[in-house]
Amino acid sequence: METSEKISKLHFLLFPFMAHGHMIPTLDMAKLFATKGAKSTILTTPLNSILFEKPIKSFNNENPKLENITIKILNFPCTELCLPQGCENTDFIFSSPDLSKGELNLKFLLAMSYFEEQLEHVLETMKPDCLVANMFFPWATKVAEKFNVPRLVFHGTGYFSLCASHCLRLHKPYKNVASSCEPFVIPDLPGDIVITEEQIIEKEEESVMGKFMKEMRETERNSFGVLVNSFYELEPAYSDFFKSSVAKRAWNIGPLSLGNREFKEKAERGKKASIDEHECLKWLDSKRCDSVIYLSFGTMTSFNNEQLIEIAAGLEMSGHDFVWVVNKNGIKGEKEEWLPEGFEERTKGKGLIIRGWAPQVLILDHQAIGGFLTHCGWNSTLEGVASGLPMVTWPVGAEQFYNEKLVTQVLKTGVSVGVKKMMKVVGDFISREKVDKAVREVMVGKERRRRAKELAEMAKDAVKEGGSSDIELNKLMEELKMVKLQNEKK
Ligand code: UDP
Repeated sequence: METSEKISKLHFLLFPFMAHGHMIPTLDMAKLFATKGAKSTILTTPLNSILFEKPIKSFNNENPKLENITIKILNFPCTELCLPQGCENTDFIFSSPDLSKGELNLKFLLAMSYFEEQLEHVLETMKPDCLVANMFFPWATKVAEKFNVPRLVFHGTGYFSLCASHCLRLHKPYKNVASSCEPFVIPDLPGDIVITEEQIIEKEEESVMGKFMKEMRETERNSFGVLVNSFYELEPAYSDFFKSSVAKRAWNIGPLSLGNREFKEKAERGKKASIDEHECLKWLDSKRCDSVIYLSFGTMTSFNNEQLIEIAAGLEMSGHDFVWVVNKNGIKGEKEEWLPEGFEERTKGKGLIIRGWAPQVLILDHQAIGGFLTHCGWNSTLEGVASGLPMVTWPVGAEQFYNEKLVTQVLKTGVSVGVKKMMKVVGDFISREKVDKAVREVMVGKERRRRAKELAEMAKDAVKEGGSSDIELNKLMEELKMVKLQNEKK
C-alpha cells in the first residue's frame, strides 16, 4: 500500500472572492476534489451561500458515494463596513446603474480583510489540510501559516495572462513608447506578443490598487503554490515560463468547467437562468451545426445604449443566427431603447436575446453554436476553448486584453473586434461594421475552426484519467497527503 493511502481523507477549505467569475470555478473545483475522494468546505457570506446551495445539494444527492461538499457561512456586515446593505457580491456593484462602480469595487475589495479574524477561527476549529484562497485575500497566507495549513492561491485566470503581467511589471516597456497606442512586444514573454500601453493594467504601482496588488504578489511567493484553471497543452510555453520564472510552484487542473457533465449541472451553474433551459436548447436544435454565434460579455461589463444598438445592427448585417446575452448592468428604465427600432420582429426566428443570466456552458456545448463573441473573461475564454469554438474577442478591462492576445496571437482561434483601449467599466466604442466583419470572419473561417476543435479535444483529454490536468491534481494531492502525514506525526 502507498504511504499516502494510509492517511485519512484530505479536507480542502475553499475561499472564493465574492464574484461569479470566482465562485463558479471554485464550486467546480470542490466537485473535482470530491471525485478524488477529498472533502471540501466552501467559505462564503450569507447571500452568496444561497447561490451555492442548490448546485451543492444536487451534487451531494447525485453522488452519495463521494465526500459531501459543505458550506461554512462567514459574517459580512455590509453597513458596518461602509458598503450598501446587501453588497456581498460584485454583481451587486455592477448591476446597480446608479452607483459609482469603480470606487465601490475598490472599497469592496479592501473590505475583504474583515474576514481575517474569522478565517483564523475557522482554521483553528476545522483544521483543514489545505486552504485554497483567492488572490484577493493576501492576508490568508499569514493566517494559514499560523495554523500550519498549506495555502494555495487561486487567481481565476490562465498562465498566459499571469506571465504577461509579470513581464510587463518587470520591464515596464510602455515607458519607452512614443504614445499609449504604439504597439510593442512584451519583453521576455515567449511568442513576441504585441500589445499597447492603453490595454494594460499594471501601470499604477503607487495607487491604492497598485499597492494592494503588490502585497498580493508578495504573499503569493510565501504560499504553498498556485492553482491554475488551465491545461498544459493549451499554453505549454507559458506554463513552463510561469513555473520557472514567476511562481515557485503551480498546478494546472482545468478546464474546471468540463467537470460539469450532466444537463442539470450545466444548467445550475451560477445564477438562475433567465430563460427556460429546455426551450433554449429546443431553439438551438432547430439550427444547423456551427451556424449560430453566441454573444456574452460576462457578469461585470456594461455598455451604453449606443453600443448595444451597434451590436444589434452589426449582428443583423452579418446575417448570422445568434444568441445574445444582455446582462442588465447599466440598462436604465423599462423602455428598451438599446435595440434598433423593430429589431426583434425583423430577427424573429434568427436570434434569441437572453435578458439576464444565460446557462452558458449548456449553450456553448450545443452543436448549433459555431462561434463565441466574448469579453475574454478567463472562464468564458476557457469555456469557449473547451467547446471547440472560434471566437470574436472584445476585451473590456481587467486581464481580458491578455486573454485576447492568447486567443488571437498564440492559439490563432480568434478574431479581434478591434477594441483599442481598456475602459475599466464601460467599453471602447465599436461600430456595427466592425461587429459584422468580425462575426462573418469567425463564422466562415475553416482553419480557425479546425484548430479550435483540436484544442477542445486536448482539453477533454487533459481532464480524463491520466491526462495532463489529472496527473497534476494527483501530484498535488499526494504532496498534500505527505504534509498531512508529517503534521500528524508532530
Ligand atoms: N456566466 C453564465 N451566464 C451568464 C454570464 C456568465 O453562466 O449569463 C458564467 C460564465 O459561464 C463564466 C462566468 O459566468 O463561467 C463569468 O466569468 P468570466 O471570467 O468569463 O467573466 P467575468 O464575469 O468574471 O468578467
